[in-house]
Amino acid sequence: MRIRVVGAGTMGRGIAQWAVTAGHTAELADARPEAVTDAAAFVRRMCERAAEKGRMTADEAERAVQRLVPLDSPLAPPGPDGPPELVVEAVLEDLEAKAALFTQLERVLPHGTVFATNTSSLPVTRIGARLADPGRLAGLHFFNPVPLMRIAEVVPGALTRPDVPPFLTAFVEGCGHRAVTVADTPGFLVNHAGRGLVTEAFALLEESVAPPETIDRVARDVLGLRMGPFELMDLTGLDVTASVMDTVWTGFRHDARLRPPYLAANRVAAGLYGRKSGRGFYAYGEGDPAPAALPERTPAGGDAARAVTAAGDGPDAEALRAALGGAAEGTGEALVLVPVWGTSVAAAVAEHGLPAARTLGVDPLSLGTPRRVLSVTPATAREAVRDAVAVLGASGSGGGCAVSVVRDAAGSVAQRLLASVVSVAASIAERGIAEPGDVDLAVRLGLGYPRGPLEWGDEVGAARLLALVEGLHRATGDPRYRPARWLRERVALDLPLTAPMPPLD
Ligand code: NAD
Repeated sequence: MRIRVVGAGTMGRGIAQWAVTAGHTAELADARPEAVTDAAAFVRRMCERAAEKGRMTADEAERAVQRLVPLDSPLAPPGPDGPPELVVEAVLEDLEAKAALFTQLERVLPHGTVFATNTSSLPVTRIGARLADPGRLAGLHFFNPVPLMRIAEVVPGALTRPDVPPFLTAFVEGCGHRAVTVADTPGFLVNHAGRGLVTEAFALLEESVAPPETIDRVARDVLGLRMGPFELMDLTGLDVTASVMDTVWTGFRHDARLRPPYLAANRVAAGLYGRKSGRGFYAYGEGDPAPAALPERTPAGGDAARAVTAAGDGPDAEALRAALGGAAEGTGEALVLVPVWGTSVAAAVAEHGLPAARTLGVDPLSLGTPRRVLSVTPATAREAVRDAVAVLGASGSGGGCAVSVVRDAAGSVAQRLLASVVSVAASIAERGIAEPGDVDLAVRLGLGYPRGPLEWGDEVGAARLLALVEGLHRATGDPRYRPARWLRERVALDLPLTAPMPPLD
């Protein structure tokens, strides 16, 4: 098939490279002719590199390069091989620029050519509404770098013709990527789903529960994320992340679940963007260690032989006892470890009359992972913290595990991050923005999470997750933590979070 890519920057050249590699002919145009020359050289380099790495033969690479057709103008009339079947627009993120381009293109390309915009944050419907024939336009949102990020969002606008989304899906999947259909809503799917992790990480920071490096370590080791939220924001650039947080929150009329942090604006004003400015939550100067390699500052010198008891009964207390193994047999006045789930250590102390100076919380999610998360209250004695770190540090299988100390707050760190990720995904499914299976697929491929959020929720257990979210909601009174209907309903009916919404007819 013949496509025309307009905008030869980061995204346009990636889309063109991906399309010609898949066997399509891609015309490439830009308002700046030198951008097309640069992009054509880039596509050639990428194809040659793929041939060197054995991903295609030299002959295939050459033929792919030949399928790239540089144009003098985005508005070039159809050539002897006929008009493109599809235009993919990847020009600057500005409604006027995009609408002006499409209204001009509509005069030179016949009705049969479908128009797609790669906008990340503008409403597709508003771009389409400017055309004489809005039915021919939809969103087609790729991720950077396009050839490696194997997912695209197909976004029908309110006026898009019904045959356009399946056409775009077939095109994307024919090139080897996966396509998900997403309602024209702020942040579409991936950028909306991604707000769960970063806004909650910021909320933990704003409440002084733990510093960024601790939150990142817990996210990596306990939740199994490739990167902690602060490392991720440093990679993306806080200027970009803060703007996406604001767009999605504003777009959903200030829904508390998506509330952006008050901390971000000043950090952006100060240029603390992350890697690209040399400093963000971490420093990126020469000789600065990678975030994951920073030394840990955990209280040391405690007594690993101190006696401990796990408070309460039930599966979490049993799991904690099992994780502690023989530690409970130790010496001295026993530490009391409370497995906290959506609640705080302080509440457990008050409710059960536990000795505040030697009572600490352990996040059950951290059991069975390489890191234990220990919650301390303002009443916990320093020496009890040191001893608890020593006891828990010695408790992992195969010679111990890492320990993170955090301030006591309902749900601790990992639970709150997980609850937020699942709750935002549940609200996306509940609003019918995308099918639950597509939510999971897009998050795995677009955000690189080890599991889709809804399948993650099922793995932890929907009822257990509801208890967690209800605990957070009770403890804070913050509507941010109100349980999604999707979650309550599925627990009540004993259905998985991944089950689709049945049609009404
Ligand atoms: P970019 O700045 O790298 O490239 C934009 C290109 O468009 C430039 O070469 C510019 O000369 C050209 N251009 C600007 N106005 C034009 C016009 N009226 N007609 C023709 N060409 C014009 O930007 P980018 O990062 O490639 O982003 C392009 C689009 O893709 C934006 O809408 C952006 O929001 C979206 N997007 C970007 C990313 C990303 O990670 N960079 C991811 C998904 C979507």
